[in-house]
Amino acid sequence: MLKLWKEPFLYPKPGTAAEALPHGNPPAASDKPKSKAKAKNASGTLRRMWSYLIAYKGRLFSVIAMVVLSSAFSLLGPYLAGTAIDHYLINRGSGFIRFLAAMAAVYALHSLTMWLQSVWMITVSQQTVYRMRVQLFEHLHRLPIPYFSKRQHGELMSRVTNDIENVSSSLNSSVIQLLSSVLLLIGTVTVMLTLSPALTLLTFLVVPLMVLGMKWITERTGKLFKAQQRNLGDLNGYIEETLSGQRIVKAFSQERTVIEAFRERNERIRVSGFWAQAISGFIPKLMNALNNLSFAIIAGIGAVFALNGAITVGVIVIFAEYSRQFTRPLNDLANQWNTLLSAVAGAERVFDVLAEEEERTDESSAVELSGIRGEVVFKHVSFAYEGRNSTIQDVSFRVKPGETLALVGPTGAGKTTLIQLLCRFYDPSSGSVTIDGMDTREIKRESLRSQMAFVLQDPFLFEGTIRENIRYGKLDASDEEVERAAMLANAHSFIVRMKGGYDAMLKMDGSGISQGQKQLLAIARAILANPSILVLDEATSSIDTVTEIKIQEALQRLMEGRTSFVIAHRLNTIRQADQIVVLQEGAIVEKGSHETLLGKQGYYSKMVKGHASND
Ligand code: ADP
Repeated sequence: MLKLWKEPFLYPKPGTAAEALPHGNPPAASDKPKSKAKAKNASGTLRRMWSYLIAYKGRLFSVIAMVVLSSAFSLLGPYLAGTAIDHYLINRGSGFIRFLAAMAAVYALHSLTMWLQSVWMITVSQQTVYRMRVQLFEHLHRLPIPYFSKRQHGELMSRVTNDIENVSSSLNSSVIQLLSSVLLLIGTVTVMLTLSPALTLLTFLVVPLMVLGMKWITERTGKLFKAQQRNLGDLNGYIEETLSGQRIVKAFSQERTVIEAFRERNERIRVSGFWAQAISGFIPKLMNALNNLSFAIIAGIGAVFALNGAITVGVIVIFAEYSRQFTRPLNDLANQWNTLLSAVAGAERVFDVLAEEEERTDESSAVELSGIRGEVVFKHVSFAYEGRNSTIQDVSFRVKPGETLALVGPTGAGKTTLIQLLCRFYDPSSGSVTIDGMDTREIKRESLRSQMAFVLQDPFLFEGTIRENIRYGKLDASDEEVERAAMLANAHSFIVRMKGGYDAMLKMDGSGISQGQKQLLAIARAILANPSILVLDEATSSIDTVTEIKIQEALQRLMEGRTSFVIAHRLNTIRQADQIVVLQEGAIVEKGSHETLLGKQGYYSKMVKGHASND
């Protein structure tokens, strides 16, 4: 069974190949992913986030302008109130109505500028994460296959959804908050110093306490938020894995184990989430207490100053208001710091994926394949997966155009790997694979893969109509072409019997039709793609006899005149092959036609007699 191959089909990209594969270029097996060496750092991540934001300079500039204005208005409000107290209450001045109008205008403008900055920032953040999401999704499609075999799909999905969402929500709030906090801080301190340096210094008494408290808290929460995000990704991965493998879980009665493992992961999230939130939730409480302390200092000592005539009563009011305004930004900074940390953690995980090396681009000299005959030659091919001992050892064979090669041998013998080398998910470490005499490394990957079609044991079907699913083999095929292909594939009769016929909807997982029918659809798709080279992974599971006969017949038609590689399980298929390659532990142990091999009394003849395995 072609296990590794299921992975690229998770996020398929329509192409010309029957089972289209993500196009691009895998690194040679010896390449190490570069990103691993990179140090994770918050400042680098922030710089990178900034490079996204800078694309919306105009909007961002408007946001900044609004933040400046709203900060100014929020400074002006208390100032006016304090002045009013001195002017109207203490000095009994005139023009109260004018003053009220001015106050109203200041507060109205404050609200307006706040509203505008938030709307514009939302636009910027939504566009930014939109771009990030597209980039990440496209990048995932260009990553080499080995990347996917090392990771859980759900965990990757979590990066595209949760992590990016996190970035979005904190961009919305944090950026504005951070900026306005800094501005307010500078503004209030300046005005306070101008009004009464002595009282300002007294107000500042609480600052060291605030800074220390915040530092203590954020040092702890930063790590916890990161852990929470990581645990969430892990849980998502696990859910995805167990849900998509439900049948296996049930078949092996593993529900209990699975639920237990889920509990453990869930528990990890609960613990990290609890501490992250409990500790960060302490910030506002701390700030509030210190705020009240500073208010008490201002009220008490300010009153003494006022009685001595050092300041006016209005100044006390301004200070009381400002001290709140001045501690609020600190408070906000602390709060937003946490949100920002979790966004940075999210962004870091997104950038990690983006930093993964894409499939290598084709050599500039790489050529397009067109109208090939389909002669495939493996010449002394050896290969090893990263960190493994040799997987394929010195494999050589030649398949003439239109011939069928059957690959047989026990599980783990390297049959799948040979096919992966053929379509260049990997490159051989030595030796060469040629098509029509041309080394596959000199052929553009997309072009190479578009010459091939795959009929796998568990064909990839996506949510859409039957017609669309077949048309996946050739996107510009007409309805007639689709139906003709379905007829040749013996699929037409079951399709027209379905409710909706060709327009019947298939589910994402292809449920609703039988395994055999799925195969027929995959064959129709491959017929439509009309490839020169065909790869067939014969089903091991038993399919009802009628459908089985239909499949065999359709396959005969499909294979006619095409170079075919079959990972074969049925003696009938194997016997009809022009050439049989028997693999064991990555090396060819026997090679030849059915008759020749039977005569040799080796592994093949034992296998035919049922004394040796072929999985
Ligand atoms: P077959 O298709 O004949 O069952 P495979 O080609 O799948 O065999 O596997 C050949 C050997 O390579 C096995 O020992 C298997 O464990 C190993 N192998 C397969 N895929 C990978 C991979 N992605 N990374 C490392 N080793 C792998």
